[in-house]
Amino acid sequence: MKQCMVCKNGKLESVKDITLEIEGYVFILAGERCSGCKEEFPYEAETQHAITAARRLGVWPEPMKLYRHLSKSGGGLVFRIPADLEKQLNLTEETEISISKLGNKIVIEAEKE
Ligand SMILES: [Zn+2]
Repeated sequence: MKQCMVCKNGKLESVKDITLEIEGYVFILAGERCSGCKEEFPYEAETQHAITAARRLGVWPEPMKLYRHLSKSGGGLVFRIPADLEKQLNLTEETEISISKLGNKIVIEAEKE
C-alpha cells in the first residue's frame, strides 16, 4: 500500500465513498483515504467525471479540491486562502468571514456587504 503524502505516516486505503460537494451537489467518488490523517484523494478520473457532470449542471466554479496544510503562528493555527480563490471571491484584509463547523468539515464564508 502507498504511504500518505500529507502526513507521511498513514497508509492509503481504497474507498468508494469520498464525497465531493460542488455548490450543493454532492458527488460520491472512488479514491484513496489515509488511515492516519483521513485525508482523501479521489482518483483523477473520478474527479474529472464529477467535474464534467458539474459543468453540465452549470455549477463548476474552477479548480477542484485543494489540499493545504495549516501553519503555526503565535500559538494558533493559520489557514492560508489560495490565491486563485482570493481573486475569484475578491477577498481582502477587510473581508469579514464566518466560520462554521459542519460535521467534520469547516466552512469558511466571506460575508457580503
Ligand atoms: Zn495521512
